[in-house]
Amino acid sequence: MSIVRLENISKNYLLGEQQVQALKHITLSIEDGAFVAIAGPSGSGKSTLLNLIGCIDTPSSGKIFISGQDVSGQTPDELSELRARTIGFVFQTFNLFPVLSAEENVEYPLLQFRELDAAERRSRVSRYLDVVDLSRFAKHRPNQLSGGQRQRVAIARALATQPKMVLADEPTANLDHKTGGGILQLMKDINGRFKTTFIFSTHDSRVMDMAEYLIRIEDGQIAASEGIKP
Ligand code: ADP
Ligand code: MG
Repeated sequence: MSIVRLENISKNYLLGEQQVQALKHITLSIEDGAFVAIAGPSGSGKSTLLNLIGCIDTPSSGKIFISGQDVSGQTPDELSELRARTIGFVFQTFNLFPVLSAEENVEYPLLQFRELDAAERRSRVSRYLDVVDLSRFAKHRPNQLSGGQRQRVAIARALATQPKMVLADEPTANLDHKTGGGILQLMKDINGRFKTTFIFSTHDSRVMDMAEYLIRIEDGQIAASEGIKP
């Protein structure tokens, strides 16, 4: 079953008087459990595409289905519930709270789940800090961690809610090549172990090579896709 299906999606931005066509008639499906790279040069529409898949933004036209569910008719509350329960996010700049420790950052998205008590939250936090191999750094603040370690905290935070998919917008762009490769390998290991779907964007060809499926996007259109059903 497809976890993501986009049907004839277009996205226009109004920039002053000018219409920017960020995405043009994109149709694609991503299978549950896939490990997918969205590759393309800067300005090609990668972030726009991820924001639409993540239900952070809405398309100008076309339909988006998440786990078979058409999200276009949903209220903002329903969308935020869907995001909280189904999707984890990882960002280029890590987006950790600087005043919170690693474990507090990972716990943060769990605070909205009323069904989890403090003990259950703590056990989730320690589980996912262990998954990213940062248990020893649980009490460290972001500024006491390296870039690669910060991105690992962000991955643990994304996983803590046990989402069906993790969306990562250029997760290695602020890391050196070796550290970035380690982050990609970690994501790939998690994909294999938990079957979490990963969709990440990149303009680094070495990072693209680690994907199981590759969607190449140029000027808001799919230029090529390898292993992806049209
Ligand atoms: P990428 O992530 O591949 O660099 P983006 O999705 O950020 O590409 O941008 C695609 C196009 O849409 C670019 O031309 C960009 O300038 C434009 N764009 C993105 N966001 C906005 C916005 N909020 N307002 C106006 N134009 C935007
Ligand atoms: Mg971008």
